[in-house]
Amino acid sequence: MYQAMPASPMYSAEHKAFRATVRRYVDNELLPHVDAWDEAETFPRSVYRSAGELGLLGLGYPEQYGGTDGDLFHEMVMIEELSRTACGGLLASLFSHSIGAAPILVGGSEALKARVLPQILSGEKISALAITEPSGGSDVASLTTRAVRDGDAYIVNGSKTFITSGMRADYLTVAVRTGGPGAGGVSALLIDGDSPGLTRTPLKKMGWWCSDTAQLHFDNVRVPAAHLLGQENRGFDIFMRNFNHERLALAMQAYALARVCLDEASDWAQQRTTFGKQLVQHQVVRHKLVVMATQIEATRAMLEELAQRLERGESPVAQICMLKNFAAQTMQLCADSAVQILGGMGFMRGTKSERIYRDVKVYMIGGGAEEILNDLAARQLGWV
Ligand SMILES: Cc1cc2nc3c(=O)[nH]c(=O)nc-3n(C[C@H](O)[C@H](O)[C@H](O)COP(=O)(O)OP(=O)(O)OC[C@H]3O[C@@H](n4cnc5c(N)ncnc54)[C@H](O)[C@@H]3O)c2cc1C
Repeated sequence: MYQAMPASPMYSAEHKAFRATVRRYVDNELLPHVDAWDEAETFPRSVYRSAGELGLLGLGYPEQYGGTDGDLFHEMVMIEELSRTACGGLLASLFSHSIGAAPILVGGSEALKARVLPQILSGEKISALAITEPSGGSDVASLTTRAVRDGDAYIVNGSKTFITSGMRADYLTVAVRTGGPGAGGVSALLIDGDSPGLTRTPLKKMGWWCSDTAQLHFDNVRVPAAHLLGQENRGFDIFMRNFNHERLALAMQAYALARVCLDEASDWAQQRTTFGKQLVQHQVVRHKLVVMATQIEATRAMLEELAQRLERGESPVAQICMLKNFAAQTMQLCADSAVQILGGMGFMRGTKSERIYRDVKVYMIGGGAEEILNDLAARQLGWV
């Protein structure tokens, strides 16, 4: 694999041992099956349990809820290794709890956390986050799914769309309107997947095939008031904080998938012969590889710098937005160049770059579209 990662002091012996563990898991449990799973547009539920047993789902969560100790560099290592599957759809669904369960940890009552989090982190239950609605996802403060208090419960009505793990999630962390218009009327509710009145419809997609994506409809769904996460009408802050980590994780994936494209393209460029010489002997081809590597190195540097700042307790929101956009652009450039270098083979199913090329757009849209993140960065930098 292209060695973008230097022998950096940020990676300890413990990180290296963790890498070896995840690598074995990917080689033995994922790589032999991942192409078939993507074609089948699903993967077995048992993958959650095997990832849970290895501590991958609980990484960074407190031990008391079944979590395992780890920092953002462990996460980077884990995502790099899992991305060798070239299957963003697997990562999206397998880790949907990284957006769904974090609000439970931040805002759930002790009893709720003690019951729900160990089930999710062990892979026994699946968690999803539902914010986006058919009327729009970028303007989160305008969401319309309504929750009205009725005794010791909320009654929820409305729809959500494009929800990752939406079909099979056991726990849905849902953004609802409990108050007036705008961000100040939004709350976070944990809704059981088997609640009467909840219906789910699967959605077909351009990429991320094996990821489960669904539209949800809530028709007078009764939710215990004890499932409120944080305070009523204060959910917007919980979701905004959640976005920081989601964007960082998407940037890590985009970076790691870009490396997979470079690896496949550079291998191909050395094996393939045209006009009597290896592809890589044609200047235009090797320059493409160097441009890919340059973009990857720049992304890695941004990622590691930001991870260090976050580990120090800083919250560089503008830089996270810029990083997520930059990493997605790196992935797009690398997927495009790799498919070009592979020629017709790059258009064929079975090459990693073909799948990554199909998947790249969601990295530019999900977790905050490029335009929205540029705008947020501009506001954070005080320009508007
Ligand atoms: C595969 C997939 C999985 C997803 N998983 C989840 C999930 O698990 N949970 C969840 O809640 N959501 C999920 N989403 C939804 C995702 O977060 C939204 O698609 C995204 O936030 C954009 O919202 P939208 O699609 O409604 O686009 P819109 O908000 O309608 O925007 C459409 C386009 O207009 C641009 N735009 C909008 N407003 C402006 C503006 N003011 N200035 C300039 N440009 C603007 C946007 O950038 C975008 O390009 C997923 C989406 C996909 C595709």
